[in-house]
Formats: sequence, C-alpha cells, structure tokens
Amino acid sequence: MGAGRFAPSPSGDLHLGNLRTAILAWLFARSTERKFLMRVEDLDRARAGAEARQLSDLAAMGLSWDGEVVRQSERSDLYAAALDGLRDRGLLYECFCTRRDIADAPSAPHAAPGTYPGTCRDLTEAERAAKRELRPAALRLRTEVDSFTVTDELHGAYTGVVDDFVVLRNDGVPAYNLAVVVDDGIQGIDQVVRGDDLLSSAPRQAYLAKLLGYGIPAYAHVPLALNSEGKRLAKRDGAVTLAQLAAEGIDADAARAVILASLGLPTSSIYAALAAFRPASLPTDPWVFTRSPDARGTGKPIGWPS
Ligand SMILES: [Zn+2]
Repeated sequence: MGAGRFAPSPSGDLHLGNLRTAILAWLFARSTERKFLMRVEDLDRARAGAEARQLSDLAAMGLSWDGEVVRQSERSDLYAAALDGLRDRGLLYECFCTRRDIADAPSAPHAAPGTYPGTCRDLTEAERAAKRELRPAALRLRTEVDSFTVTDELHGAYTGVVDDFVVLRNDGVPAYNLAVVVDDGIQGIDQVVRGDDLLSSAPRQAYLAKLLGYGIPAYAHVPLALNSEGKRLAKRDGAVTLAQLAAEGIDADAARAVILASLGLPTSSIYAALAAFRPASLPTDPWVFTRSPDARGTGKPIGWPS
C-alpha cells in the first residue's frame, strides 16, 4: 500500500488555502486506498506552538492521518546518510557562491533564469582550500542532465530545469529538495499532492529520487488560493485562519464547507466529499477567495453560509 502526505511548515497558522491543499491531499490519498502521513517540515521557520495549532486545525477539518507525526528536525541522521552516499559516488561538490555571485555570473546561452552557472563545479583542491578560508561551503549535486520530465495528475507531462542544485545549505541545514526526497523515499510516499507553486521543483526532486534509488511519486500540483488582487492568499488578507474566523463566529465546519464547495464537492461532511471526489473534475484555476461585504454588511465573504 502506498502513501500520500501533507507536509506543513510550522511557521504560523494554516490559512484557508493551506487547509484546502491538505484536504485535497487527504482526498487523493484516501480515494486511492493509500495511507495518509503527516510530516512537519521544521528544518527552519518553526514558530513555537505553530505545529500544535496546525495539527489541531487539520483535525478540525475532519482529516485523520496514519501513524505518528514525523518531524524533519528529528531526521538529521537520514539526511546525513543520503549525503554520504552521494558524496561517495562523487555526486557532490562544494559551492562558495553568494546569491550575488550567481546573479552576476555569465550564464550559458538559453539557460533558464536562476539556473546555477556551474562556477564551483570544477574548482581545483587548492582553489577550494582558499575559498574555505573565506566562506563556509554549501554542497551542490553534480547533475548529468539539464532537465527532467515528471507526470502530474493535473498538469500532464511537465519538463523543468534540473541544475546543480543545493542539497546542503552553507549553514549546515539540509536543503528543502534533499529533505523532501529522502523523507518521501524512506516513508514510502508514492503520491505527492501540494500547491502548484512547487511544480517547478518536481523535476529536480524526481531526478534526485531516481539517483537515490527511490521510486518517483505520482504528482498532483493543485491550484493555490488567491486574494481578490490575484496574489497568493496570506494571513494579512484578513479572516483566513480558523482562529481568525472563529473570532467572527464562523466555525470549522463552515470553513470546511466553503473549501469543499470551492472544489465542487458535497459540503455535508469530509466523507461525503470523499465519495464524490474525482480528480479529473477538479477545478484547475486558482481559488480566488474574495471577502466583499455582502448586502447586509456583515463583512462575511461571498459564499459563506449565513
Ligand atoms: Zn558556487
């Protein structure tokens, strides 16, 4: 049996867009007889108390997960072992570049913006020794491709850039791309459902998964929630977290109903939604969460049950 997952960063309260993605990840996993795992991505940006509030909000949505919650901060040994294996195969090299160095470096013709130009790929040992005196090194993956193609449930075949991306940051913290791939591989996750802002990361991650001998998961990158200005929904947009909504008298059941309605699913319960869930009929446009005062001037967003 495979597994899907939700992997929040405990940087603050989840908002309606995050909760919608979590619900979708649960629906995808449960509708395909998979386990559903919860992984807290707390390698940085962890705020005290945020994890407990996030898990409580997810439970209030009606979501349940299998097994214990996994925390990236407790898995350093696994990331170190993966890095050792890559190093032994000659697939890592030290990079001393600042962001500025990378932005200023001449890039190869036709290279995608932001692609690492390979500055440190072929330094001599003497050059590396001199640079180590000035700045701690990050570790980059020595890749053998320029791009990689993944298959996505909503986006079809998606080809994206694979450059020599960072796998260990120069502050010693495993890079997001490494930690995610190692975790998904070790946890047996074969279905990744997350916001479509991460679609462009999928080719790098799939390439690394292949290098590490893990299967490449099935992907579904789902549309994000936007505010009325078309920007990504954020807490400053007002009452968008369950705590903020509760202060206005809108409970978790009502919030879940609005999310399920936005997905074209029955709103009476999460299980009614599960029974009706068909990935092919999901909306592929972003969810624009408007918050215009209604005719009675209550300030509730359009679409809220009155
Ligand atoms: Zn470099």
